[in-house]
Amino acid sequence: MAGVYVHIPFCASRCSYCDFFSTLKLPQTGEAYVEAVVAEARLRCAELRGEAVRTLYMGGGTPSQLPLPLLERLLAGLGEVIDLGSVEEFTVEANPDDVTPQWSAAVKALGVNRVSMGVQSFEDPILRAIGRRHTARQAVEAVNALRQAGIDNISIDLIYGLPGQTVASWARSVEEAIALEPQHISAYGLTYEEGTRLWRQRESGEVVEVPEEQCLEMYRTLVEMLAAAGYEHYEISNFALPGYHSRHNSSYWDETPYLGLGSAAHSYDGAVRRYNPADLQEYIATIASGKPACQEEMMQWWERYDERVMLGLRTARGVDAGKLRCDFGDEAWRHFTREAERHINQGNLHVVGGNRYILTADGIMLSDTVIRDLLWDE
Ligand code: SF4
Repeated sequence: MAGVYVHIPFCASRCSYCDFFSTLKLPQTGEAYVEAVVAEARLRCAELRGEAVRTLYMGGGTPSQLPLPLLERLLAGLGEVIDLGSVEEFTVEANPDDVTPQWSAAVKALGVNRVSMGVQSFEDPILRAIGRRHTARQAVEAVNALRQAGIDNISIDLIYGLPGQTVASWARSVEEAIALEPQHISAYGLTYEEGTRLWRQRESGEVVEVPEEQCLEMYRTLVEMLAAAGYEHYEISNFALPGYHSRHNSSYWDETPYLGLGSAAHSYDGAVRRYNPADLQEYIATIASGKPACQEEMMQWWERYDERVMLGLRTARGVDAGKLRCDFGDEAWRHFTREAERHINQGNLHVVGGNRYILTADGIMLSDTVIRDLLWDE
């Protein structure tokens, strides 16, 4: 089983908080980029080792910015070299202002069965302040358009801790999200990434950071409200109605191999990580010369251990210490169980079925600290 990720690095404008790799040069480079991704798929499809591809994910950037003929060409090109016949979950990320009834019907016809939409907030002044191009109303209309087109697996992204947000206004955004009955909600705490406009605004005092305690309160509110609405909290930042966990993202957490295509995309085959350059021209030129653009990094055992612990503890399934011992040996297992003991005593971790270590509700609030303590730290 494997997944394929395609990075679409184009945005219509830059949001103030974002440090993802994307450019505003779609009109100049869109076509060449799509041809480069198709060529890269041809060069690298053997990395899938014949595994059936179960999930296809187009992320960005803003994939919904890609003109439909280019999306069609991309899919046809991928389909020529990768067997997409076993794909069960095909997700496209979208911004609400791109999601029209026409777009929704067209992507549905292309096989998309899940749309992940960056809504971020239902407060228009906040959306404007962070440079989003849509209103709360447009997010509601977008969800309706998707449903009308028959796309009934919809995910909404939200951000808490945004400047100007209060616990009460955040709770209203969560309420509005729940009222739309999306199958999936992802919610992330705002981070101030160096180099972004938001970072500079904070440095100059134009923007005031929401205090950490208030952010924690927002997260608590989110967890309680979504649980009451029937959402399963299956990963620290991810919530889903039963049966609607994101299969693609779950495969990252389960260490399922995936092939990442496009500039800035990452791949993992179980042992080696590959990274494509976060530079559009370099990516296109390298692929055009007939070579893959990725750099390789063979992971050391402790890096794989750290990843297992970090990703596992973020999920509701936790970390299987028996499997950890099998895969990484006695010394790693002793380190893990010794450090975990302390957090069990403090009520941050609990053990299910003798071997599965899972964060408690209190532990989730302290997840960064708990996870840090359990890492190998080579
Ligand atoms: S948040 Fe999304 S839409 Fe905004 S700049 Fe980043 S990738 Fe583009």
